[in-house]
Amino acid sequence: MIDELRQEMLAEQAQRLARLELRSRIHMIGLLIWGTLLLGWMIYCFVKLMVMANRTAIMQAGTIPFTCGTCGAAFDLPAEYLVKHPFIPKKSISAGAVGGSGLHGTVRMSRRLRCPVCGKKAWCRQDMRETGKIGANSFIEAARRIIPKFFLVEAVIVAAGGAFFTLLRIVLR
Ligand SMILES: [Zn+2]
Repeated sequence: MIDELRQEMLAEQAQRLARLELRSRIHMIGLLIWGTLLLGWMIYCFVKLMVMANRTAIMQAGTIPFTCGTCGAAFDLPAEYLVKHPFIPKKSISAGAVGGSGLHGTVRMSRRLRCPVCGKKAWCRQDMRETGKIGANSFIEAARRIIPKFFLVEAVIVAAGGAFFTLLRIVLR
């Protein structure tokens, strides 16, 4: 009688151990898939952001008028050139709040360019009205479209993972 009881208890314990082992195995695989999904989605969004920013920049490409700082000649440069050469030295003057008018942003920007008229490297003034949305702005535009989606999906994956692991703990206790 006592032997039977002991055997039953042992069998139960063995079953519980097997359940726990299965649980930890599923837990590990789940973590792996979870991590891969989180990271994969992050990389996907990052690549997409880069591709989109680049495409937007090229789509917006027109020409930007410049004025040479040395000879004063006016010339145009394709916007694509500036997108492809983002490290051209530049200096900008911000307006701040001139006279309390609330005017913000860059009013004057010069870039170190080789003037096609006099052939010298000079600080050439860029026409800001034509610059509009090139380079950094196309990146911001792409980010504005992708980042909300990125966080939404990431949150869904986090929630799904949390639910899965909680359920696992309940089912295989
Ligand atoms: Zn010049």
